[in-house]
Amino acid sequence: MITLKSFLCGQWQQGSGGEATLVNPATGEPVATCTSRGLDLQAALAYARDTGGPALRRLTFAERGALLKRMSQALHEAREELVAASTANNGATRGDAKFDVDGAIGTLAYYAKLGADLGSKHGDRTFLLEGPAEPLTRAPRFCGYHVWTSRPGVALHINAFNFPAWGLAEKAACAILAGMPVITKPATSTALTAFRAVEVLVDKAGLPDGALQLVCGSVGDLCDHLLPEDAIAFTGSADTGAKLRSSRSVVERSTRLNIEADSINSAVLGPDVQPGSETWHMFVRHLATEITQKSGQKCTATRRIFVPRAHADTLQEALIEKLAAIRLGNPADEGVDMGPLATAQQLDDAHRGIKLLCDDGGRIVFGSTGNPVGRGFFLPPVLLRHDDAAAARVVHAHEVFGPVSSLLPYDGDASAAAALVARGEGTLVCSVYSDDKAFLEGMIGASACWTGRLLVGSEKVADQAITPGMVLPSCIHGGPGRAGGGEELGGERGLRFYMQRTAVQGDRALLDRVLQAPKEPATTA
Ligand code: NAP
Repeated sequence: MITLKSFLCGQWQQGSGGEATLVNPATGEPVATCTSRGLDLQAALAYARDTGGPALRRLTFAERGALLKRMSQALHEAREELVAASTANNGATRGDAKFDVDGAIGTLAYYAKLGADLGSKHGDRTFLLEGPAEPLTRAPRFCGYHVWTSRPGVALHINAFNFPAWGLAEKAACAILAGMPVITKPATSTALTAFRAVEVLVDKAGLPDGALQLVCGSVGDLCDHLLPEDAIAFTGSADTGAKLRSSRSVVERSTRLNIEADSINSAVLGPDVQPGSETWHMFVRHLATEITQKSGQKCTATRRIFVPRAHADTLQEALIEKLAAIRLGNPADEGVDMGPLATAQQLDDAHRGIKLLCDDGGRIVFGSTGNPVGRGFFLPPVLLRHDDAAAARVVHAHEVFGPVSSLLPYDGDASAAAALVARGEGTLVCSVYSDDKAFLEGMIGASACWTGRLLVGSEKVADQAITPGMVLPSCIHGGPGRAGGGEELGGERGLRFYMQRTAVQGDRALLDRVLQAPKEPATTA
């Protein structure tokens, strides 16, 4: 068993007192201990502000991109070790561990390339210019530009337990490319993979001093000590998100806060899709993946399945056939498709959630809440059915964070389906399966405002489309309302949270020279 240290002020430091024990969720055996008690986290803030920030801001976008490339390569070289850490501490199957670790490597590589592209476009310029000059008065000479500059503070990244590698990397990639130093904090219960990843990055990636620090354990009241120029990017539960919203820094100093929280995602089958068609098979395949991948512990997993009433029984049968083929067990064993939930608490919460769904009229049509493995924190896939989607309450309001999904028949009308999607009060992703233009127009028109991402599954892309739970760095990740109201990634869009937009007004000829504005009107920098 190892003791996880934190990497602060350029040194590995070990806290003392109140140690948490991290376990292997497949066996319940301890794998590591960790505490941040006694560590000077405010010194880490100062170190990031005084050392890491200036070092990053001196770099051009191309140089920051090169740094991200080294980070991606370093993690890639350590891939097997990180996968093993994820299996040991997250209970992840090899496929699930790769989803996290490869996601981290790929996202860093994507932002490395973006840095190189911005570098070729802007040379040594370390700010971004948005849009063409805006005329401000009748005199054409006086105009306004919009520029984005790096914020001179610290990015505090607080991550959830389910993606210890990707969560670290997707946030760090955007902050570092934007020129902000990072203090990253993984969830304590599964911190092993993030700890290993930062060890590798410190040893191999040639990070500037203070550019990336790691807290293993609690951040205590650090969020109350942030300044206007700082930023908190948080992924986790809505309850913790609400606490962060009321932290002194956010309330009194307008410290920026981005929240990625609970999400009751939906998948909708259009009335035109016939059982046996390509689109139907894609729908069933996607559902099975979304219920079981990472044991359903994905913020983007499908929780509500809306199916035209005429096809509900057929879909139920098809999905049960897929779920019945899933082999549950210790991911360290051969041939296992699905591992345990991450912690005992998560398992208790999932059991409680299933009971709430049943008390509200849902009935289990596949699976059970027993643990067939006999130890560890296992929950088999559970499919519920609720025949009155409009009357149901809990299924639209309570996220059960496990391999649990509910099938809800609807009447096949786009406005009815969109109204049901909206009952989730804001989600990360909604997937719609249809080849019918009118149905899709109705769904996109009425549902897009309730979700951060909308995946349209149709016949021509049946073999090409990604599953709805997959977050790619080129499109935004986040969602309105219950999902936290935040937004991450999305290519260059992901940098903006770490930068300040300023309107710069003045003499056009002078500003053109000072800002090195392109001759032709630009759209985005
Ligand atoms: P959580 O209990 O809210 O913890 C998330 C993180 O917040 C952990 O690092 C935790 O640290 C930290 N934290 C807890 N209390 C804090 C406080 N008062 N101040 C500062 N940090 C604090 O959530 P979780 O159980 O890890 O994650 C499950 C939830 O996350 C699910 O509801 C899921 O939907 C959501 N999630 C959302 C996304 C998304 O992208 N939208 C992705 C993944 C998960 P400790 O571990 O040290 O307590």
